[in-house]
Amino acid sequence: MEKQSKIFVAGHRGMVGSSIVRKLKAEGYTNLVLRSSSELDLRDQAQVRNFFSAEKPEYVFLAAAKVGGILANNIYRADFLYENLMIESNVIHQSYVHKVKKLLFLGSSCIYPKLAPQPLEEKSLLSGYLEETNEPYAIAKIAGIKLCENYRRQYGCDFISAMPTNLYGPNDNYDLQTSHVIPALLRKFIEAKENNSKSVVVWGTGAPLREFMHVDDLAEACFFLMHHYSENEFVNVGTGKEISIKDLAVLIGKLVGYNGTVEFDTTKPDGTPRKLMNVNRILGLGWKPVISLEAGLKRVIEEKPLKTSI
Ligand code: GDP
Repeated sequence: MEKQSKIFVAGHRGMVGSSIVRKLKAEGYTNLVLRSSSELDLRDQAQVRNFFSAEKPEYVFLAAAKVGGILANNIYRADFLYENLMIESNVIHQSYVHKVKKLLFLGSSCIYPKLAPQPLEEKSLLSGYLEETNEPYAIAKIAGIKLCENYRRQYGCDFISAMPTNLYGPNDNYDLQTSHVIPALLRKFIEAKENNSKSVVVWGTGAPLREFMHVDDLAEACFFLMHHYSENEFVNVGTGKEISIKDLAVLIGKLVGYNGTVEFDTTKPDGTPRKLMNVNRILGLGWKPVISLEAGLKRVIEEKPLKTSI
């Protein structure tokens, strides 16, 4: 990838895409092709075909997706499956048709079977049943991996896939119904502090274990993989460290400066009990994350994501 190469970052307004754009700009890449979803509907085959014919990007970061937390995944099941399948099929196929030099597809750690051995190794893909709440999203992301693998096998396309762990950072979604746990808890604790509320409600039992990575670490990994990795196998991207939802709530409460109590709403789902990535493959390639959970959360809080006084 040269500094003048034409690079399409699909999903540049999202948390991942915007972080990749910041990284590319910081590295001096100037020829970025960016389209908002109102300018280019990636679910629409004709629009994507016309876009690729007109722009002919040389490199593609496929960070566009319909994403959401445990509740949204479970409620909008058809939308998560259909929209993600369409986006991936359209962008990956047109990248093949228009001879894109390299494409990086972004998936998710939820592609792994619910009961796969932990930490999750890349080889566990398709070795068992998926977690029920996010099965549609996972099926779509698995299809994306398989598209990349098979366009490489059949047509020799240099298409690679990275599977990030749970992410947080700038441009996250803070809507309590559709967000992931970190933005949800940041919002709940910040607002509870401002309103002097006695307690904060955390969904589930607090027992599930999750791994979290700041999105700027993921953007570094994507940049690294785009330069140094061209294999058929997809690559996990994570920190290799996990924390319980209860401890996460305590940590966020401490960082926000909240002094009340935490209640658990066990009518809400826990989701998968544990989701920790084995990151040996990417460590072996020579990349590692640098932002600790505490440092990353502090950074996000300092950015005042809710535009409040805290
Ligand atoms: P998941 O990793 O796919 O399960 O997605 P989430 O980030 O939405 O949820 C992770 C865990 O955090 C689950 O066990 C949730 O039940 C728990 N959790 C606790 N409080 C919240 C909350 O306010 N919002 C969300 N989304 N999850 C929460």
